[in-house]
Amino acid sequence: MDFTLSEEHQMFRSMFRDFAQKEVAPLAQTTDHEEKPPLEILKKMAEQGFLGATFPEKYGGSELDNLGYCFLMEEMAGACMSTALTLHVHLGLAGNTILREGTEAQKEKYLPDMAEGTKLGAFALTEPEAGSDAAAIRTVAVKKGDEYILTGNKLWVTNAGIADIFIVFAKTDPQAGARGISAFIVEKSFPGFKVGRRERLLGLRGVVCNPIYLEECRVPAENLLGQEGEGFKIAMRALDYARLGTAAMCLGLAEAALREGSRYATERSQFGGPIALKQAIQNYVAESAIKIEALRHLVEYTAWLADKGERFTKEAAMAKAFGGEIVRWVADRMLQVHGGYGYMREYTIERIYRDARALSIIEGTTEIQRFIVASDIFSGYGLKIKP
Ligand SMILES: Cc1cc2nc3c(=O)[nH]c(=O)nc-3n(C[C@H](O)[C@H](O)[C@H](O)COP(=O)(O)OP(=O)(O)OC[C@H]3O[C@@H](n4cnc5c(N)ncnc54)[C@H](O)[C@@H]3O)c2cc1C
Repeated sequence: MDFTLSEEHQMFRSMFRDFAQKEVAPLAQTTDHEEKPPLEILKKMAEQGFLGATFPEKYGGSELDNLGYCFLMEEMAGACMSTALTLHVHLGLAGNTILREGTEAQKEKYLPDMAEGTKLGAFALTEPEAGSDAAAIRTVAVKKGDEYILTGNKLWVTNAGIADIFIVFAKTDPQAGARGISAFIVEKSFPGFKVGRRERLLGLRGVVCNPIYLEECRVPAENLLGQEGEGFKIAMRALDYARLGTAAMCLGLAEAALREGSRYATERSQFGGPIALKQAIQNYVAESAIKIEALRHLVEYTAWLADKGERFTKEAAMAKAFGGEIVRWVADRMLQVHGGYGYMREYTIERIYRDARALSIIEGTTEIQRFIVASDIFSGYGLKIKP
């Protein structure tokens, strides 16, 4: 067993870290306090090639593998979680889904613009009545001539207010359950496509999240992604990869919380010396570091499986469940280390604490990740369980 990173991975990691600390971190508080989408940073990221980093060179990318993508997400989340999630949904969910599932014509049409950042991506699966139970979506797509007509509402579409290209899931055969779902590439300019009012969020305040309304939205038949009826599988595959990226964001955010807490503990004095000398504080710091290292190994092992082309659904669910829970734990303890100051908006830990809360909900809640893990285990005993 060899834990040494290749020179290429080390180079990518230090490039991402450098950019995150120099360009992203200084704007994180403003992005949050002014609830500003990080468009300026995205432009700079596009110049660096980050917006299409996982794409092949012919579409403007640098073929970053899953481990490299985890480093990108870890470093960006450690600097600004709103920026990291905006990038992740654009590249990890929308761009990579087109790359994995699209025809050559679809890739040529959409990926170069996405890599350049002239078009941003979004992923629209969730609906008002279909969250964890994604197969219960009600949006329908009816084929008419060389178009599909999409009707329905999507909720919680990250990037909706700033995106141009949406991966939308709709039922082409409403009687067939999950097997009746299809995936489409929908452009915001298509007739009948509307973006609703931006949601106001507890954390992730730079993230633009809106509902979308499809009012007999006309989508050219060539924008069907995969075959009719393959949409649910496409969504689940996309979520496997995305959960790995989100676990890496949990890692980066937890590391940032630990950095803030440890530094503060050495600077803040009570009872005649730094609070870092108190065992209670040392325990919070040590326990955070232990959880973070455990998460790092889970993330990197899962990325290694994905890069080898092996199945990693269970491991991605484990990493996402563990990451979502430990980032909250670490953020909470590091806020405690800050005492009352941690509750003030000018302290970074306050933002991290709010941002962390979303990570055990997005891309499938912790409960759903546990179901995926349990279902894998029980299937080994010949028992099929249902959510
Ligand atoms: C910030 C943010 C960004 C998001 N971005 C996107 C996006 O870009 N695209 C998109 O499509 N969606 C997005 N979502 C939606 C997200 O994927 C859903 O919120 C999530 O899947 C949960 O669905 P729900 O909110 O409807 O909760 P529900 O499914 O209603 O769940 C409510 C509670 O019940 C529990 N529960 C439900 N079913 C079970 C079960 N079988 N067993 C045990 N417990 C269960 C859940 O774990 C949860 O605790 C986003 C959400 C947030 C908060």
